[in-house]
Amino acid sequence: MNNIFESTPTDLFIGGVWAPAKSGERIDVTDPATERVIATCSSGNVDDAIRAVDAAKAAASQWSSTAPRERAEVLRRAFELMIERRDDLAIIISSEEGKTRAEALGEVTYAAEFFRWYAEEAPRIKGHFGRGPAGTNHIIVDHSPVGVSLLITPWNFPAAMATRKIAPALAAGCTVVLKPASETPLTALAVAQLLDDAGVPAGAVNVLPSNRSAEISNSILDDERVKLVSFTGSTEVGRILLAKASQRIVISSMELGGNAPFVVLDDADMDVALESALIAKLRNAGESCIGANRFYVHNSIKDEFAKRFAAAMSNLKIGSGLKDGVDIGPLVNASTRNKVEKLVNDAVSEGAKALTGGKRPDGPGFFYEPTVLVNVDPDADILKAEIFGPVAPIVGFDDDEDAIFMANDTTFGLAAYVIGSTGHALAIAQRIDAGVVGVNRGFVSDPAAPFGGMKQSGIGREGSQDGIHEFLETKYIAIDW
Ligand code: NAD
Repeated sequence: MNNIFESTPTDLFIGGVWAPAKSGERIDVTDPATERVIATCSSGNVDDAIRAVDAAKAAASQWSSTAPRERAEVLRRAFELMIERRDDLAIIISSEEGKTRAEALGEVTYAAEFFRWYAEEAPRIKGHFGRGPAGTNHIIVDHSPVGVSLLITPWNFPAAMATRKIAPALAAGCTVVLKPASETPLTALAVAQLLDDAGVPAGAVNVLPSNRSAEISNSILDDERVKLVSFTGSTEVGRILLAKASQRIVISSMELGGNAPFVVLDDADMDVALESALIAKLRNAGESCIGANRFYVHNSIKDEFAKRFAAAMSNLKIGSGLKDGVDIGPLVNASTRNKVEKLVNDAVSEGAKALTGGKRPDGPGFFYEPTVLVNVDPDADILKAEIFGPVAPIVGFDDDEDAIFMANDTTFGLAAYVIGSTGHALAIAQRIDAGVVGVNRGFVSDPAAPFGGMKQSGIGREGSQDGIHEFLETKYIAIDW
């Protein structure tokens, strides 16, 4: 076992106290590159969940009345501590999630930026004062924290998905219970530790890993004291949580699945297209909600794009994210890898051809070879499902209208990419139904930008000025002057 795990907490963090779950239940944390258990951590149950809500409620009034400047300074310290602990956090992320060291370091920096950004936003929560159009009254608009919030995060960006919620919640004056994914609890617990060290008061942030996600989220959402659920994960689970939240009309913010089209227009710069495609496809070995899932390439350049993309993909070195010189790590678990394998096998049996990859390598670890598929049936499942792996199916088009139709022919609407001359690409970008569009670039994440999906990819936005408003109520006061 790596030394870092000796200093990483593995208990529940409730009310500022680290303690194991009374039930004694534990979660096995597995390194997806070796399939070995690297640590275990406490698994909370319903009693622990209610204790966490008690703690968050007890801390709520003091934290909401703490001066915005003071809240900002705590967040700023959290940013600094996260950058200081960047290397250790990156090792934890690579060990339990599988991404390469370089990507894990990038994730920690990105995650820390949410603390910095919301440290800057906390003192800038603006209300509004104005005169009604009739001239007879005045309008005051004020914002207040919604209160105790349930945060549920996925495994693919275990640090960033947590800070993208915790930072705006704390900046707004809310207190939270975070339920991280069971695949990656150690990163969340390390984030809890740094928040404690940064001076977040006891109970303002509670972290509760659990193997009993449905049970504990149901009991938390049944609790009158809980006012909001902010979820990042699959559309399937988002739908379940929305149904549950509807019973008490709990405020809901949903960052859900995606199926991003990557459109290469006839006037695209081929080098830009290839560089952007590699970034948009391979971030986190393809396990990204905004990962390019389907490639629509103009038929005049499709063969060249496919050939060069396949050559670049075949040069990538697969291995444990903890090792130097590795370009692509394992997928997070067997079921994720098996899903990718089935989608590729089905596409090939329907006539697709793998220019590179197309199988899992031998040996332990949940690896899958970087794969480029051509001759893909436009109705194939691989174009409809979220692949969540390093697989790029390519389909040609002749007319921009066809590309726009195919790009929008999905229930998802999170991200999209368009590569082409600027005016041309922007015109297409405006017609694609997605919350985030990369034009001539494959990297789109930015804490200062609103991130979220249209259609079944979500409700609400995280990051930017919008992210803090997810955690604020708006009150209008009508006043005679
Ligand atoms: P998931 O939906 O299986 O799990 C997400 C979280 O929900 C985990 O903490 C899990 O333990 C918990 N959970 C599972 N079932 C639950 C239930 N019945 N009730 C309450 N909680 C439950 O998703 P995942 O496999 O961890 O992550 C991958 C998915 O997340 C992909 O679909 C991806 O697109 C999506 N995602 C979206 C964004 C975004 O910003 N839109 C970002 C990252 C990931």
